[in-house]
Amino acid sequence: MNIFQSFKSGISSSSNYLKENINKIISGNNIEKEILENLEDILISADIGVNSSKELINKLKKKNFEKIDIKTLQNFLSSEIEKTLLPHEKNFFIDHKDSLGVIIFVGVNGSGKTTTIGKIAKKMSKNKRIMIAACDTFRAAAIEQLTKWAKDSDINIFQGKENQDPASVAFEAVKKARIENYDSLLVDTAGRLSNNTNLMNQLAKINSAIVKSNSSAKNRVILVLDGSTGSNLLNQFENFHNLIELDGLIITKLDGTAKGGALISIASKHKIPIYFIGMGEGIDDLIEFRAKEYSQSLFNLGN
Ligand code: GDP
Repeated sequence: MNIFQSFKSGISSSSNYLKENINKIISGNNIEKEILENLEDILISADIGVNSSKELINKLKKKNFEKIDIKTLQNFLSSEIEKTLLPHEKNFFIDHKDSLGVIIFVGVNGSGKTTTIGKIAKKMSKNKRIMIAACDTFRAAAIEQLTKWAKDSDINIFQGKENQDPASVAFEAVKKARIENYDSLLVDTAGRLSNNTNLMNQLAKINSAIVKSNSSAKNRVILVLDGSTGSNLLNQFENFHNLIELDGLIITKLDGTAKGGALISIASKHKIPIYFIGMGEGIDDLIEFRAKEYSQSLFNLGN
């Protein structure tokens, strides 16, 4: 499957939803005010976001189309969305040369963090030495799950003891990764704590333990978001964004949801790289985010 096909099949629920609904309102080819309002509602209902949908419709109005066919409309929307998303397309795989790259994954429980770490570890382990640190020590199931993924991909995992302080697990993991010359350490963290202050304190503690353990380590914090939560995605992103400095996003579960447009609402408001999108539960179901392929697939365009 080429990258276009992966995007197309991965977000087909969202593109089918848009296609069906756009077809319903544009039977002829005259763009009328009422149609534009209906179109705005459709974009909003696909969770593209109220502001981003309004912006798209305003741009369309400025074009002063007298007549428009569905293909022209789809091309217009897709190319505008692509322009918004393009600055968010960044390469995740940075070469840190001799220093250890530490990637801390954060996100609420169930967002797909553990699964995503397994998927990324497999991709990275093709040409790098990767270790995973299981710092979600409050959830035995998370450690078990990580261990299984790691075993399947032949990747080393550093486990804390149950209920061990996550920051101390991170500290020891970094030390081991550095001594044993690993290239990258992927750190899984807990997603559910009693409140934001506890969550922030814990993440700050993990971060400072990592810096203490190896000051030359290059740290990145990546937020994993469940893409099927639709308009909640922006709220969830902003909650984390207000708590900690984020270096990038991964949006999971875009397969099987008609709400695949929700990442556009984040991208049109915040400058943050979107590195990957999750397209299924299998170890290879994670693809690098591509603005063009995503935007065209959303409207069933492209190869
Ligand atoms: P965590 O609590 O954030 O670590 O989330 P998990 O990694 O345990 O994932 C929660 C559930 O979501 C599991 O059943 C995963 O198989 C599933 N999952 C994760 N990523 C994806 C994805 O991209 N697509 C689908 N369909 N399911 C996913």
